[in-house]
Amino acid sequence: MQQDFIQALENDDIKSIKSFPKTDVHSHVMFSTHRQNVERWLGQSLVKPPSKMEGLEGMLTYVGKILIPHIRNRHGFEFVADSAVKDAIQDGVVLLEISFDIRIAEFYSDGLQQFYDYVQNLVKKYRQQVELRPELGFSRKCADDTNLVRLTYKAIESGVFHSIDLYSHQDACPPEAVEPLYREAGKRGMKLKAHVGEFGGAEEVRRTVEVLRLDEVQHGIAAIESEEVMKWLAENNIQLNVCPTSNVMLCAVQDIDSHPIRVLFDNGVPVTINTDDLMIFDQSVSDEYRNLYQAGVFSAEELDSIRRSSLRSVG
Ligand SMILES: [Zn+2]
Repeated sequence: MQQDFIQALENDDIKSIKSFPKTDVHSHVMFSTHRQNVERWLGQSLVKPPSKMEGLEGMLTYVGKILIPHIRNRHGFEFVADSAVKDAIQDGVVLLEISFDIRIAEFYSDGLQQFYDYVQNLVKKYRQQVELRPELGFSRKCADDTNLVRLTYKAIESGVFHSIDLYSHQDACPPEAVEPLYREAGKRGMKLKAHVGEFGGAEEVRRTVEVLRLDEVQHGIAAIESEEVMKWLAENNIQLNVCPTSNVMLCAVQDIDSHPIRVLFDNGVPVTINTDDLMIFDQSVSDEYRNLYQAGVFSAEELDSIRRSSLRSVG
């Protein structure tokens, strides 16, 4: 008899866990495939990331030294993006919202059209196996770069991207600096997301949701510092797209056992379980479900309910 997702978790049957439909709605394309795939492609091994890194800065040090020199070009990007979609499919991901940083346009000679073509062909190539919804990614560090902001407006207008995400250091720019971009994306019907509250600041989570009129928050785990903010998120149905291993490796959280996703869930905040950067954190969505179960953070039934809720928007 075929087991259900709950039994697959209880029996620690990773092959079966992988076979059930899941979503990944917090993933950055440049680092979105397993490192081993890049190693095979390059024909050389890559130094592993340390198991604990000093926040975003620690991660960027590793990324800049080990990964970027190999992949920050058109061929590297296209290999990683294609490989990422295959990884997701093998993991049972049926909905993949993956962010494409606007700076990727710089890899293409004509700026945007070839970039759009590549993204649209990728969607088409795998459409039988996965619903790939390209997301436009914008770094807070680029808010003063007038050329990149101009390209971002064009990318919003293109209709290629279903959603928009903002990331990098929270203090690199306040949400107000990108408010006009978000207004435009909202007018176009794009889903609005931003990274906030990864390393603290419950009030900043609420403020960013309000200023940018966000639909969803990437991370947002700092909301546990305030019951009032959690209540507000729950009442406004603001979903937090959480990446447990990323939080542990970047020292935002001490370990999986004490991950705040439990507190968020208990306070009625909608949560999903995601990968962030597979190349660095090395845990697929199925692995993350397994880890949360093994650590006793959630029961198998609770994880199944989180999984089922995440599938609601699969079309
Ligand atoms: Zn992220």
